[in-house]
Amino acid sequence: MPSPELNHAINHTTLSRLQSLLRRVCDASPAALALVERELLAPPVLPMPTSTAVIDLTTTVDYETPSTIISTTQTETGVKRQRYAMCENCKEEFDVTENDNGSCQYHDGELEVEWDSSTWDDWDENCHGTIDLDLADEYPDGFVWSCCEETNESEGCTTGPHVVDETYRPETKKRRIWE
Ligand SMILES: [Zn+2]
Ligand SMILES: [Zn+2]
Repeated sequence: MPSPELNHAINHTTLSRLQSLLRRVCDASPAALALVERELLAPPVLPMPTSTAVIDLTTTVDYETPSTIISTTQTETGVKRQRYAMCENCKEEFDVTENDNGSCQYHDGELEVEWDSSTWDDWDENCHGTIDLDLADEYPDGFVWSCCEETNESEGCTTGPHVVDETYRPETKKRRIWE
């Protein structure tokens, strides 16, 4: 159990320093390495049986589309995957081992300014600032999704599996880090 002082330090240390520390902890301790692997990696995607495969149209399709499985098995047979990923669609973290066609609810359109919204009735761009997407979180009623005309805070109108955002990087401080 970390002491209160260590907990405080963990909460206030930069992400990149914690990442390099975690690598060193893995080097220093086989038990820590096993724990981190268990937490952060998921079992490999198993290859589809080829010769005896029967496509059963009565069941729902697995979230792994055939093309994903083919490319994965060609290049990464037996390789474990990152377990927790960010979703390209809903922008939330998800567990790749618990991802199916109903896991992700999102809007598949674009967020747009709703010029008819009463939010903008008394808005003077000269003193309140330009009306653009930067205001969408603060004034959700002033924006609508092109897919369903619902406001920014509405629940997603489309459902599907989460999709791994390969470009996602956790926020790291741009500031120079003390070595
Ligand atoms: Zn929508
Ligand atoms: Zn999602």
